[in-house]
Amino acid sequence: MKIRTKIQSYSSLFLSVMLILLSIIVLIAFFWISVEREQDLLEDQASLIEENILTKDLISGDPDLLEPYTPDDGMVRIFDTDGRLIKSFTDEEDLQGFKVQSVNDKGFDFTKADGDYMLTYRHPYPEEGKKLGMIEVIQPQDTLFDHLSTLSLVLGGASLFVILLSILAGKWLANQILKPISIMSGTMMDIEKSGEFKRIPLSDQSKDELQVMGASFNMMIERLERNYNQQQQFLSDASHELKTPITVIESYSSLLKRWGMKDEAIQEEAVEAIHHEAIRMKQLTEHLLRAASQAEPTVDMEEKIELISFCEQIAQTFRRTGNREIKIQCEFKEIYAMSISSKLEQVLVILLDNAMKYSESGIRIMIKRQGNDIFIGVKDQGPGISPEHLPHVFERFYRVDSSRARKTGGNGLGLSIAQSLAESFDGKLEIQSEVGEGTVVTIILSHQILI
Ligand code: ADP
Repeated sequence: MKIRTKIQSYSSLFLSVMLILLSIIVLIAFFWISVEREQDLLEDQASLIEENILTKDLISGDPDLLEPYTPDDGMVRIFDTDGRLIKSFTDEEDLQGFKVQSVNDKGFDFTKADGDYMLTYRHPYPEEGKKLGMIEVIQPQDTLFDHLSTLSLVLGGASLFVILLSILAGKWLANQILKPISIMSGTMMDIEKSGEFKRIPLSDQSKDELQVMGASFNMMIERLERNYNQQQQFLSDASHELKTPITVIESYSSLLKRWGMKDEAIQEEAVEAIHHEAIRMKQLTEHLLRAASQAEPTVDMEEKIELISFCEQIAQTFRRTGNREIKIQCEFKEIYAMSISSKLEQVLVILLDNAMKYSESGIRIMIKRQGNDIFIGVKDQGPGISPEHLPHVFERFYRVDSSRARKTGGNGLGLSIAQSLAESFDGKLEIQSEVGEGTVVTIILSHQILI
């Protein structure tokens, strides 16, 4: 069953049951209240007869004496101590033959005679010799039943009207609730069919749960689209990057196969080129592996590190491989920090690698202390990064200039890896850069209490 049908039928069914129950309660209450009122009236009539007419007149007096005490359309009858009818008064011919129910018990009877309901009240009166006679007051109840049937008609009609209204309201409510849902499922089907990242159109006015759900869906689609685009860019760049070294390796190895074994110069050139391209591919895959392994949990312990000698060791490797001047500046002879040395080294390697890639002159590592924070800055004198790119350089796969990055072998992963590594030992990364002046990337180690 569709949700729309469910909402409509359940709400109408529920309302119908409630209305039927309510109508039954109202009818029963009306009936009992009316009957009680009628009983009070009959009781009053009988008491008035007893109080105002002498017993002897009741027995032998004129029957017209009873006229003022006879209810409209009703009848009064007087029975003697032996239950014999001795007097009766009524204007209604139909009532004259009304069967005597009982003459002994005081109380009420509700009986049906000739299709009409009659309410009878018997009231004893004292007769001579202490015995009791009976005054019987009878009132037909057709008006009560007329009222009862009118009331049932009114209740039935009103209930039907309310049920009809509720069906319309249910339809409107179901539309209100389901419209955004069908728009959402339509958009989802469109996405499924077309493979495009589409957004759900949302109305600005309402802030209900469905709108929140739609907004969350749109945010999720936006993120998926962003990631998808970044990965698409990375895939195309990576395949482009790998195509060149593979072609170089393939052509040099063919050359070696054909001529190289005899010609020493070709041999040397081919080995050098293959070696160079192999290193480039290795760097690219290493970056990818590092990025992929970030999700793995690690249990590295913090240790006390003397930062000047630590940086010196890493700088020395870069000086040899990159043939570049790298200076370390620090106002202290020794400076200690608590950190995870393997991760701190990885971050420094990425920052030095970037400084080497994106600049040509000397590099400086500046170690400073301010209060309980230690700053390790890697400064180069390269072309710098323009302000519009600066906020994005920590994003995965983000590259300022694809052509420059391709030339230098970058793939936009270095800084994002460095940032998550720094976060894993409670550090932070900050970047400052000026176009034409150079770039400083600083590792901040907070809450360091060692001197
Ligand atoms: P990549 O692996 O491409 O170097 P990164 O995440 O390390 O990726 O850097 C992102 C981008 O930031 C790079 O494409 C580069 O353009 C820019 N960048 C990073 N470091 C420097 C730097 N020291 N000088 C100039 N640009 C830099």
